[in-house]
Formats: sequence, C-alpha cells, structure tokens
Amino acid sequence: MSDQQDFDLIVIGAGSGGVRLARMSAQRGARVAVVESRYLGGTCVNVGCVPKKLFVYGSHVHDELEDAAGYGWQVPLDDVRFDWPRLVANKNAEIERLNGIYRRLLESTGVTIIEGTATLSDAHTVVVGDTSYTAKHITVATGSWPVVPDVPGKECILTSNEMFYLPQLPKQAVVWGGGYIAVEFAGILAGLGVETTLLYRGDLFLRGFDGDVRRFTENEMRKKGVILKYGVTIESVDAENAHYRVQLSNGEVMETGLVMAATGRRALVDGLGLTDLGVQLSASGYVVVDDHFQTAVPSITALGDVIGTPQLTPVALAQGMVLSRRLFGDGQGEMDYSAIPTAVFCQPSIGTVGLTEEEAREAGHRLRIYRSEFRPMKYTLSGRDERSLMKLVVDDENDRVLGAHMVGPDAGEITQGLAIAIKAGATKAQFDSTLGIHPTSAEEFVTMREPVA
Ligand code: NDP
Repeated sequence: MSDQQDFDLIVIGAGSGGVRLARMSAQRGARVAVVESRYLGGTCVNVGCVPKKLFVYGSHVHDELEDAAGYGWQVPLDDVRFDWPRLVANKNAEIERLNGIYRRLLESTGVTIIEGTATLSDAHTVVVGDTSYTAKHITVATGSWPVVPDVPGKECILTSNEMFYLPQLPKQAVVWGGGYIAVEFAGILAGLGVETTLLYRGDLFLRGFDGDVRRFTENEMRKKGVILKYGVTIESVDAENAHYRVQLSNGEVMETGLVMAATGRRALVDGLGLTDLGVQLSASGYVVVDDHFQTAVPSITALGDVIGTPQLTPVALAQGMVLSRRLFGDGQGEMDYSAIPTAVFCQPSIGTVGLTEEEAREAGHRLRIYRSEFRPMKYTLSGRDERSLMKLVVDDENDRVLGAHMVGPDAGEITQGLAIAIKAGATKAQFDSTLGIHPTSAEEFVTMREPVA
C-alpha cells in the first residue's frame, strides 16, 4: 500500500455499509478515514430501521392494553394517555447512545472520523472544508434520501426523515405511497390513534410481494382502521397552520393534519463531483458499479443504497465485508443476492424469503402451494380480530421450498430461521420431518400437509 497517500481508504458516508467497510479494512491493517456530514450510523440508525422499530413497539402498546382485559387485567382504557414527545425524546436518547457506539467502534479500530461534507477533486483526493485528503481507494457509501413527487405544495409534505422528529401527533394523517415505508408508518400512526389514510397509485400496495401476502395484509390493516385508497395520487397540497387540504387525482379533496410521502428514495450523490471524474450514474441516478463494487474510475468504489441494490442494512453490511476483503484481504469474495430475507414492520408484520408464488410461476416452476390462516393463540382470550397467514411455495419437481411468506406477529423473527433452510436448499419433506415447537405460530411452517394449489 502506498505511503504517499494520507490513507489507504477513505469511505464517504458512515452508514451501515460504510462503517462496516471502514472497520473491517482497518482491522486488516489499512489506514482508513470515514467522512460523514450528518450522523454516525446513517439512515438505519438515525432515521430508518432502528427508530422505526421503536415507534412500532410504541404503537403496539395500545393493542396490548386492550388485550389485557381478556387475561384478567383491568386497564382503564378511557384514562390511557399517550405522550408522543416522551416517545420521541426517549427514542432520541437511544439513537444518541447508538451514535456513540458507532463512534467508539470506529475509533477503537483506528479509523479516523472526518466530520463534514466531502467532494472529490480528483480520483484520489477528497476535499472536506479547506482540507484535502488523499487515498489509494475511495468508496462512496453515501446512501439514499427520500423523494417527494413534484406537486404544488410539496414543501409542506413530510418524509420519514421528519416523521422521526415530529413535535406533535396530528389527529389525522395522509400517507402517500405503497412500499415498505408507507405501510410501516401507516401502521405506526394508526396504532397511536391517528386517523390514517394511505394513498397508493396502483390497485394493491406492496408491489413485488406475494399476492396472498398483499391481500391478507390489506385486509388486516383495514381491520385496524387504516383507510386505504387505491388508484389515486396527490395533485397538490395547501397548508394553513397545521391544517392541510390535499387534492387527489380522483377529484376528491381531503382535509388532514399531516401529509407524509413515502414514495421511494434516490441515491445521495449531490455535490460529490462523481460524474466530473468519469463515474457513471444510471438513468435513475444510482452509481454504476460492477460485481466488485468498482465504478468506471479504478480508484473509486461504491456500495449500499447509493448503488441501487436492495436498500437493506444487511445487504450493505455484507457488501462492506466483501469489498474490504477485495481491497485489503485475499481479493476474493462475491455478493450473493439470492433469497434475501426481509420483514416489513407493518401491523401485523410481514416476513418473506425466497420466491413469491408469482415469481416462481413466472420462472416456469410447477408448484405446490401450502397455506395456513389462523387466529394466533394470544388473541383467543383477548378476542382480538386479527389473523395470521403462512405460505410455502414449493417446486413440485424436486420438492425444494422456493419461498416462505408470513403475515403475523414476529414474522421477521420467524422468517430469519426459515431463511437458513431456504438458503440451504431444504425440501418440503425436510420441513415436514422437522418437529414443531408447540404451541407456537411458527410450527405451522412444519405442519402444513395438504397443498391448496
Ligand atoms: P419503495 O420503493 O418500497 O416504495 C415506493 C412506493 O411509492 C411504491 O408504492 C411506489 O409505487 C410509490 N411511488 C413511487 N413514485 C411515486 C409517484 N411519483 N407517485 C405516487 N407514488 C409513487 O420505497 P420506500 O420509500 O417505501 O422505501 C425505500 C426502500 O427502503 C425500500 O424499497 C426498502 O428497500 C427500504 N426499506 C426497508 C425496510 C425494511 O426492511 N423493513 C423499511 C423501510 C424501507 P409503485 O409500487 O407503483 O411503484
């Protein structure tokens, strides 16, 4: 490695992928710096996965209080008060704790943290403020940022970034979009007692998920009071104080206390000067890399949300490990994007791994479909009208389980284990020969005997 440069590696962006790459590379003996303009830990820790999950927990509490009566607990529901600023403050304190952990993780491995906004002045030089830093390798790990469609009044539309710091909860809210973030925030808001309407331009939200999962989730969300409007978009928003008039494409006008857009995210490359150096961006603005995270400029690599691979923390973490090994290890290693398990923390939550029924049919597999719907045991005494769905997509020719899908409590927890089986190529016969854990919801996955299709 060259001693002529200030560093062997400068990583721009201290999110999940950037921090993992920096730490692993420093542990391999590289001289590493990370430049960060905002917060350590990136979207996941600050305005994504972590605070979102804390809000999901918070919004579940009302259900728990309602369910208590069936178990003999007398909770005066008409006297229950919820303190939103308290939840936000406690969440903020936890995020600050995690920011500190990220700082210590970096510093303890000898990574230099440079606070400020980075610009690349040449293929080996990063400028932050008045200082230039040189490095043999530069990795762009700047992540992504919410996009709000260009409609009149867009400046008063919030995104997930602002939702995490909302000073007060409104009585009513409109959530625009039909992806992960829209359904998760619709669930959080509804759980906290906000009258919530979700607007989606298509005919059923969560495009790309298994059809049964989408329909089942739709039904359960409706039961929880979320108002779903399909085939509509927002044409304009007018704001007066904390009151919003939302003009919809179907002619309807909605009055509400908050409008949030969860209409996708774009690569965050503003001001880096990448294209001036010859780094290519795709038509949708992502940094173009090859299978080894290499951009068109030999010294510049990129990973994480900014390259347009699935925008998930574990993907960025895995990319960071692969790239570190490529740059400072034995030069080997590939990313494997097959069977990425994922959870959507809507309410009830979704867990999914492998192919959807639609994808498997499209790929030409002859299938057996196993499906089970039931009321979780916990809700028998409480009387809660909530059901769970479990589904296996099986290749009829070789008996391999191609996909597992679930809607219900702890779907993410259950799906993580199933992901190992699916990654290992488990067959339905092996699922069937696995003993259940009784009584659990998860045991359904090993006791579905008769195909429904
Ligand atoms: P998604 O890409 O998941 O969803 C965007 C939604 O907005 C889609 O329903 C899309 O509709 C709709 N949309 C896009 N453009 C417009 C437009 N111009 N007008 C109206 N509607 C529009 O993005 P999110 O913002 O929800 O999340 C970004 C990513 O972050 C996710 O894809 C996921 O990778 C990650 N994430 C993961 C989470 C998890 O793991 N639990 C949680 C949150 C985010 P259409 O379907 O028609 O394209």
